[in-house]
Amino acid sequence: MAKKQRLAVNLYDSLARAERPFQPAKGATVRLYTCGPTVYRSQHIGNYRTFIFEDLLKRTLIVSGWRVKHIMNITDVGHLSSDTDDGEDKIEKEARITGKTAWDIAKYFEKEFLEDINALNILIPTKLVRATDHIEEQIALIKIIEKKGFTYKTADGIYFDTSKTPNYGALAGRDITTIRAGSRVAVGEKRNATDFALWKFAGSVEKRQMEWPSPWGTGFPGWHIECSAMSIKYLGKTLDIHCGGADHREIHHPNEIAQSEAATGKLFSHFWMHSAFLNIKGEKMSKSSPKTNITIATLRERGFDPLDFRYFTLSTHYRKPLSFSWDALDGARTARLKLVASLSKLPKRKATTDDDMKKDILAAFADDISTPKALARLWQGVKESVSRPSVLWADHLFGLNLASINIKVSIPSRIQALTDAREEYRRLKDWQKSDEIRNALEKEGWCVEDTARGPIIHKI
Ligand code: AMP
Ligand code: ZN
Repeated sequence: MAKKQRLAVNLYDSLARAERPFQPAKGATVRLYTCGPTVYRSQHIGNYRTFIFEDLLKRTLIVSGWRVKHIMNITDVGHLSSDTDDGEDKIEKEARITGKTAWDIAKYFEKEFLEDINALNILIPTKLVRATDHIEEQIALIKIIEKKGFTYKTADGIYFDTSKTPNYGALAGRDITTIRAGSRVAVGEKRNATDFALWKFAGSVEKRQMEWPSPWGTGFPGWHIECSAMSIKYLGKTLDIHCGGADHREIHHPNEIAQSEAATGKLFSHFWMHSAFLNIKGEKMSKSSPKTNITIATLRERGFDPLDFRYFTLSTHYRKPLSFSWDALDGARTARLKLVASLSKLPKRKATTDDDMKKDILAAFADDISTPKALARLWQGVKESVSRPSVLWADHLFGLNLASINIKVSIPSRIQALTDAREEYRRLKDWQKSDEIRNALEKEGWCVEDTARGPIIHKI
């Protein structure tokens, strides 16, 4: 049997700050760990920008011939309102405000997250693992770190001493001695501003719903330790790729590296990849300011399909900040629907020239997930009438779920004539007549959507 061909992929490693050729350290399986959602509120589309990027990376590896073992965590305990271990546990706080139990809140938003990623056509991780299901593993890891002399105790918990680890600031790209000396960060009992909690004592904060016994007393794990404990459990001491959003490059990931490498004495991950932020009105979209948050539910309320957002993210490289606006999303929707409509007109039989497009698209993905380049090449292919099967092949990479669309649908001439007439009434600002036609179309089972680039018609 012919040996399966595996293609080279170049990826930007945030730690080396350079693009490097990637292949898994052992065999044909990529050990991929991605930091998952904190489930105290709905995820916003900024979070989903990162999850979509990770999905595109995974699809690139799979189409390039690698197997991917992907672990993602669900943070359902320990993430405090500040990434530097201050404030209240986000889930406990939400429980206090809403009167629900912390467990119910976590369960509710985990379920919603699963529904959302399904709607965004994000491939489900090999395993989704909850922090609260791995308390034992986290305690065991802290015990090893303690035994190796990296910890100390304060009034509120067991802390990791970052001064004992070489290159602590390497990933964040900062010299931590400057943070330690003359730092403006409140250090309290911490020895260094960058030190972080491995275990927090329950008594040090308000009465908690989620707490466990431990060798250091009743409490709960610090936020960072869950990712080290669960990635080591399911993927081993050294990962091939570890991903997250750009904010994690500053605190969470340096802490994961410090504690994992202290415990195992081995390199924690060969590659680190971070997606840039989704911004809105010049600011990072953030769960803690719900007023500027846009969720998948908000998209639907405004008549968008979650896949319009997926398409929107493809137009910008994942390492560049992406600015959200409704107009830009509208443009993405128009383009996506145009792609869907073009599909039905494309030839069914493959031509040999299709392979050029397929090769170019895969090469763009394999060049550090260059989606704008890949998308432009797809459109060029569509304009040159590549075959439908070749576009569907490319969609294994883009993940726009084109195969699920009923491509046999074509718009009957009578329906098209009604749509054109309605457009004319709209141009004349005769809203009553245009609405009458819209109602008539709906009665016939067709929905018309007005976009910045003209009306789009589809079956209800
Ligand atoms: P969280 O639920 O806050 O733990 O975040 C889940 C993922 O979303 C993490 O990888 C974050 O780094 C990422 N993230 C948070 N905010 C944004 C944003 N505005 N744009 C892109 N990614 C984000
Ligand atoms: Zn993590």
